[in-house]
Amino acid sequence: MNSSTTFQSIQRSRGARLRRGDQGPPPLDFSSSSHSTSGVAAHSQPKVCYYFDEQVANYHYGEKHPMKPHRLALTNHLVLSYGLERYMDIYHTRRATDEEIREFHADDYVDFLQRVTPANATQMVKTFSHFNIGDDCPIFTGMYDFCQIYTGASIEAARKLLSGGADIAVNWSGGLHHAKKSEASGFCYVNDIVLAILQMLRLYPRVLYVDIDIHHGDGVQEAFYHTDRVMTVSFHKYDGEFFPGTGHINERGNGLGKQFAVNVPLKDGIDDATYVTLFQTVMQSVMENFSPTAVVLQCGADSLGLDRLGCFNLNISAHGQCVRFMKSFGVPLLVLGGGGYTIRNVSRCWTYETSVLVDADLPNDLPHTVYHEFFAPDYKLHPTLAGRIPNQNTAQYLEEVMRTVLEQLRSIRGAPSVQMQEIPPDIQGFLDNDHEDEDVDIESDHDGLHSQTPAASRRNRPAKRAHRSEFYDSEGDQDDDQQPEFAALSRQSMDLDT
Ligand SMILES: [Zn+2]
Repeated sequence: MNSSTTFQSIQRSRGARLRRGDQGPPPLDFSSSSHSTSGVAAHSQPKVCYYFDEQVANYHYGEKHPMKPHRLALTNHLVLSYGLERYMDIYHTRRATDEEIREFHADDYVDFLQRVTPANATQMVKTFSHFNIGDDCPIFTGMYDFCQIYTGASIEAARKLLSGGADIAVNWSGGLHHAKKSEASGFCYVNDIVLAILQMLRLYPRVLYVDIDIHHGDGVQEAFYHTDRVMTVSFHKYDGEFFPGTGHINERGNGLGKQFAVNVPLKDGIDDATYVTLFQTVMQSVMENFSPTAVVLQCGADSLGLDRLGCFNLNISAHGQCVRFMKSFGVPLLVLGGGGYTIRNVSRCWTYETSVLVDADLPNDLPHTVYHEFFAPDYKLHPTLAGRIPNQNTAQYLEEVMRTVLEQLRSIRGAPSVQMQEIPPDIQGFLDNDHEDEDVDIESDHDGLHSQTPAASRRNRPAKRAHRSEFYDSEGDQDDDQQPEFAALSRQSMDLDT
């Protein structure tokens, strides 16, 4: 596609393709299913592994806080009540260790997270501003345990992909994309995404991170801003003020990572057709030009219409269309949750997206669960969520965004790392060994990875906390006063494991 292609013409040409995903729920299909009692029909599919720990839903940020981990219980009940567990392997996850969390996060910050409790918070209050503790990121009972659970699930899911034990790995409790090396942010304390990607970089030459949360994926972008081995692509609302305030189209990475951060800033009220068109056009170009060897997809559900904190106009089917599109490339895929604050819709969305991943058609009538009344009055998988907010994204604005982003993507073709070999041959022995006991002993799987690359993550740990205002000077940022975060990975990359 060239830059003269108009946004409207793309929409027209893709209309037929989008119709099924955009205009209502998938068709009901009981006829071809051997599991007709659940009303689910599944087809041939990649191997999907699903990570869940029921404990993760039992933590409370506070009564009035919009982040409700309980949404994960709703999601899991719907997934199981629809019978989707028949089409994937379900794993009860282990907690991330302190050492694993320190692979990205600063020691003093992890020490703080481990120690602070509601009971001793008053004694530690002087450190709160340093670590950005406050209304958005409060101290609550079991906070660090909560972080260890959702992070452990993302790390395990990443390792499952690395071992070849899954084509797709899902952790709806993960995706906390705002957490920084040394501070909490936007309801996120530990950045499970960065930690999962660090695992993946041990084997995968190029990892693509895609973020469809309504908020900019700032924590992940910042962590990999200086490397060309991770491309971050974020679709989000941007007006300079909407949280977290970053995600301008001109934030493109720096040093070796220049052009490897991609930002697609959107305005209020974007609708299904324009969002999906933009997403597919941009991601098609990303896949062609970056050619990732693994993909991480953050599926924040606050981009849905009627979200408590959001202002887009998406229906669940359109959100899920983005998941379906990324799945269609057949690249190892780690699927994570993220934001989402109207919890009945979050759970519907992630249930539907689970069905997309296992290629099952779900009836629109929700199965009965103990949480059935959450879904009143319609009790449908696909309620109408669009229509509340006028679409402020004009065709002219979207054309300009698309043209700019596609030009950026074309400029990376031929970058050194893009031509890197796929996987070094001597990694294969490790993969084979790991594959043998993949479903049996999680700890040995974990230890195996560590013994394979004992110093990798340590060597590449950022030495200094990046100061946000310096970091986001964008194109003009020539500061040399911070260590390139993971730039070293680009150069040392493969020899770490060989
Ligand atoms: Zn969000």
